[in-house]
Amino acid sequence: MEIINRTQRMRSVSRKLRREQDKTIGLVPTMGALHEGHLSLVREARRMCDTVIVTIFVNPKQFGPGEDFQNYPRDLTKDTMLLGDYNVDYIFAPAPDEIYPKNSSTHVEVAGLSEQLEGAARPGHFRGVATVLTILFNVVRPDFAFFGQKDAQQTMVVRRLVRDLAVDTEIVVLPTVREDTGLAFSSRNAYLTDDDRRAAPALYRALSRAESAYAEGERSAKKLAEIVRADIAREPRAEIEYVSVNDADTLERLDRLEDRPVLVSLAVRFGKTRLIDNILLNRARTGKTGALVQP
Ligand code: AMP
Repeated sequence: MEIINRTQRMRSVSRKLRREQDKTIGLVPTMGALHEGHLSLVREARRMCDTVIVTIFVNPKQFGPGEDFQNYPRDLTKDTMLLGDYNVDYIFAPAPDEIYPKNSSTHVEVAGLSEQLEGAARPGHFRGVATVLTILFNVVRPDFAFFGQKDAQQTMVVRRLVRDLAVDTEIVVLPTVREDTGLAFSSRNAYLTDDDRRAAPALYRALSRAESAYAEGERSAKKLAEIVRADIAREPRAEIEYVSVNDADTLERLDRLEDRPVLVSLAVRFGKTRLIDNILLNRARTGKTGALVQP
């Protein structure tokens, strides 16, 4: 395993890989502080691809003013050890000025999927995400790139991005990995106090109640959102930012959930810590590995 800090080096390694061998490159973009969620992506990349490249880059452009960019957990030593165990070929861990050249002034904006939900709560967030992913795709030129369903809107943004800009990379989305309590793994869980940690499984519990209500025939988006809200409201430490029911392909707000894939998503604060989670309803098609099949 080689750790690469320079964009030029990453670019030349990737170019060489593509020239010398007719082999596939898999990219797993992360912000580090790795956990089981990230590792599930790495595992699948290892299974599917000849060369696995994991990027560790806390991208300043996707954090708003007053967000946790400075305090975001960083532990490159531990991450490197973990990725060594997973037989990763390269870690690309550049400093911000390697990714954004001086006077960099170009952004990528995925209009229509970036403004609502997380985009409304975090203006500019998806512009930062789309811009850094475009740069990483251009540097690495991966055949496959791996993302988690945990960040549902991000998966939609990146799929639209590669389609619209004809990026020659296939996007693979893998299911959300959860602790036994149901709490989705997240680097931000490190911020939770012990009391918050005990309270935070309320999110998935509430989403699961909505899933059961849906299975029993509930088709009102408002009712499903109310079920989720009411369940979380029983947890006094939780402060709901939004609970939303949307078309899982377009993010259109829904009233009645007829025969279409539905995304139920939420953002909830525990003190200063902001957690997101979601479930997909009526999306039965999954691949052999549990990877969601591209619609
Ligand atoms: P991050 O480091 O938070 O930017 O996440 C890097 C990638 O890991 C993104 O594609 C996330 O969606 C994915 N990811 C984060 N948490 C989880 C999880 N609990 N289960 C599956 N994927 C996850």
